Amino acid sequence: MTSKYKYLIIGSGPTGLGAAYRLKELGITDFQIIEKENYIGGLATSFTDSMGFTWDVGGHVQFSHYDYFDNLMEKALGTDGWLTHQRESWVWIKNRFIPYPFQNNIRYLPKETMWMCLAGIIKNYKETQNTTPSNFEEWIYATFGNGIAEEFMLPYNYKVWAFKPRQLAYNWIGERVAVTDLERVAKNIIFETDDLSWGPNNTFKFPKYGGTGAIWKAIGENLIGTEYISLNKEVSKIEADAKYVILKNGEKIEYETLITTIPIDILYEKIENAPNYLVETAKKLKHSKTNVVGIGLKGKPKKELETKCWMYFPEKNSPYYRVTVFSNYSPNNVPDINKYWSLMAETSESSEKPVNHSTLIEETVNELYNDGLIEDKNDVVSKFLLSFEYGYPTPSVERDELLKPLRPWLESKNIFSRGRFGAWKYEVSNQDHSLMQGVELVNFLINGEKEITIDFPSIANAGKGKN
Ligand SMILES: Cc1cc2nc3c(=O)[nH]c(=O)nc-3n(C[C@H](O)[C@H](O)[C@H](O)COP(=O)(O)OP(=O)(O)OC[C@H]3O[C@@H](n4cnc5c(N)ncnc54)[C@H](O)[C@@H]3O)c2cc1C
Repeated sequence: MTSKYKYLIIGSGPTGLGAAYRLKELGITDFQIIEKENYIGGLATSFTDSMGFTWDVGGHVQFSHYDYFDNLMEKALGTDGWLTHQRESWVWIKNRFIPYPFQNNIRYLPKETMWMCLAGIIKNYKETQNTTPSNFEEWIYATFGNGIAEEFMLPYNYKVWAFKPRQLAYNWIGERVAVTDLERVAKNIIFETDDLSWGPNNTFKFPKYGGTGAIWKAIGENLIGTEYISLNKEVSKIEADAKYVILKNGEKIEYETLITTIPIDILYEKIENAPNYLVETAKKLKHSKTNVVGIGLKGKPKKELETKCWMYFPEKNSPYYRVTVFSNYSPNNVPDINKYWSLMAETSESSEKPVNHSTLIEETVNELYNDGLIEDKNDVVSKFLLSFEYGYPTPSVERDELLKPLRPWLESKNIFSRGRFGAWKYEVSNQDHSLMQGVELVNFLINGEKEITIDFPSIANAGKGKN
């Protein structure tokens, strides 16, 4: 069986849906999305378990740099389809919760640790630094000082990325990490003030029903249309010169332009006769795996957790780096909010940081108990494990050099690789960025407009209103 489309889109995550939505908006209907899974949404999907608890692939928070994205979110679920929350994020360390950002709230620490952290900041202020950091670890020391680096930033970042911070670059940071301001830190200590309002996502929206996945399902099913999306169809081979793909079921689909959101290392492996040096280059890109353990509980969360959104865990006892009180995002994330609540714990994994999947759930429950989030293990009524091989596109020190030759060759063949793993740029790989990578690509293909998000991440991250 052979079919043919002007635009063939691989993947129904936010990037693929963004491209499809924009094509339709421009009046172009000669396109098709091919998705290997039996659901729409990619990593921004949600699952409901047999007990009726809903889970995201890790806590997804809506934050947007684009008016276009905001408008689409409203179209997807309507104005009434959302709940708005004040961000409350905390760090669990030394048997206590410290408000995030850690460096602005070190007054919560035991005095000796507090002083180590403060002394590190003061030392950095006193010593002029003449060298430019060459990796994330050096940047952390130079920005936060030894105390904060060793107490929080280094152990926490290893747990998140599953690679040592010295293996990471720091040019992706931008707005994502709050940097230190000695005056502010000292003032907070002296006046005993909490400093909570940092950052790009201090309020955020969450779908009232169905978790994050409800957004992308609505965009796919209602705004694009199911006739444009083929589920359960995995692309196994791409003939770049003859311009067709072969699916796992043997089906052949021809295209004029291919838009793909497959991780770029896998993409190169699928292309027949791709230059070997590019296949090998793509393989060197680092990524980490995401494991999400959802824990459904009976009763109510303890008082301390009633308004918390998510918590960071830098210490070694727990496998997880972040835990979300997911029932606080929407009461409909649990079967009956008067009887149940839920926690969602994320654990990273890589070739250098293996995880034992057969013990992960048990270990998570035990440490949630030891960390005081669960008061009685008998309250656990549901356990759910999700593992995604491609979770985080690692911004490794060598990433940008590796990426350089990959796109030009593909584009010379009319293949456009975009999205979280299609472009492999962590700094522009959230839902809003991913959607806009798809939208902007179509604007480029049809109208010749410059793509901002993929080519100029710092401009894209600088603020709203450009699209
Ligand atoms: C743990 C975690 C937490 C996150 N938190 C947030 C957050 O708080 N806020 C936020 O905005 N974003 C968050 N994100 C990011 C968000 O999930 C991504 O931005 C988004 O899903 C990326 O979209 P994408 O379309 O580029 O890729 P994906 O979602 O990965 O979609 C790619 C699609 O391609 C399909 N595919 C792959 N190979 C093939 C093939 N051979 N044939 C056919 N189909 C194929 C896949 O099945 C998938 O559906 C988070 C991600 C993770 C992992």
